[in-house]
Amino acid sequence: MFFKEVIGHEEIKQRLLATLQSGRVSHAQLFTGETGSGSLALALAFTQYLFCTGDKHEEACGVCPACKKMQKLIHPDLHFVFPVVKSTKIKLPVSDEYLNEWRNVLLNNSYIDLENWLSAMGADENAQAMIYTEESGNILRKLALKPFESDYKVMIIWLPEKMKPECSNKLLKILEEPYPRTLFLLVSEHPEEIINTILSRTQRVHIPPLGQEEIAKQLIRQQSLSPDSANEVAHVASGSWLKALKILEETEESVYNQEKFIQMMRLCWERKMLTVNEFVNELAALGRERQKSFLTHCIRMIRENFVRNFELENIVYMTKREKDFSVKFSPYVHEGNVIPLYEEFERAYSDIIRNGNGKIIFTDLCIKVMQNIRP
Ligand SMILES: [Zn+2]
Repeated sequence: MFFKEVIGHEEIKQRLLATLQSGRVSHAQLFTGETGSGSLALALAFTQYLFCTGDKHEEACGVCPACKKMQKLIHPDLHFVFPVVKSTKIKLPVSDEYLNEWRNVLLNNSYIDLENWLSAMGADENAQAMIYTEESGNILRKLALKPFESDYKVMIIWLPEKMKPECSNKLLKILEEPYPRTLFLLVSEHPEEIINTILSRTQRVHIPPLGQEEIAKQLIRQQSLSPDSANEVAHVASGSWLKALKILEETEESVYNQEKFIQMMRLCWERKMLTVNEFVNELAALGRERQKSFLTHCIRMIRENFVRNFELENIVYMTKREKDFSVKFSPYVHEGNVIPLYEEFERAYSDIIRNGNGKIIFTDLCIKVMQNIRP
């Protein structure tokens, strides 16, 4: 990963580059940033620059053996720790068990979230991914080795907030008095969940959400979007490149969701039970994932339409299509019904997760929407 491949964050790149060039690299750094802002990508670019043995100035050279290995994520001095899941085959899971899957995911896209990662491990989306206690032994053993090819060993720990306390406790000493030429890069989305004794031993590098312009520029360059659509997607992505990609991927699905949301609101307003029944049958026939996606979309629309009433344009995250409907619809979501509506959709969502009967859940939901939207 090169710095130039990391979207935006010019100022942070310059700062990281300056520490790399000065040779005064802090041995334990904590990169914090929201999902999709690029903290992991920056950690990888940082490591490649550090390892590069070629002619490097603003960027790693890209052609030396170290760069070649970094580009495949197989440099022997690069170590990874990340949350993993237990399975019938793997009872005491450690990161090494999933290293191939990990490399494949990152080589495809270094902007990932836990959901992407669970699916890459073949785990259920509700599975618990953790950094288990067994991992600490592995970390200490790997770091006790001398670097193979570089001057440094780098240990990238993705989502240290998922670390079991027993594992964190075993790492305290090495974070305090590290082996020589050892570098910890912790990449966190929720630093507030990391224990204080770890936090106090790291130097914090905060990665802010991306700017709308930075995302739009990248969408035009990488996804050949027109400036208008790029701006629209970038706005809804609210600082996350990952979210921008998801919006693009889910276009067909999100169009469907919005169509159904509009249909549902109209039917409920008109209270045509017979048509509501047909509508419910259609939703009940969808797969569970599509039902969840539809309900998530509805929850977002309730929120956005409510906020829109306050004319806070810059905190409303809607696409043009969603906004078009919202022009007339938003007054119907107000202080008197926003919470009950929100709660009814949330309840339907959790009932779907618990494998409830789709027909009953959606019928019930439609009745509740009727009562709240037009009392
Ligand atoms: Zn190089």
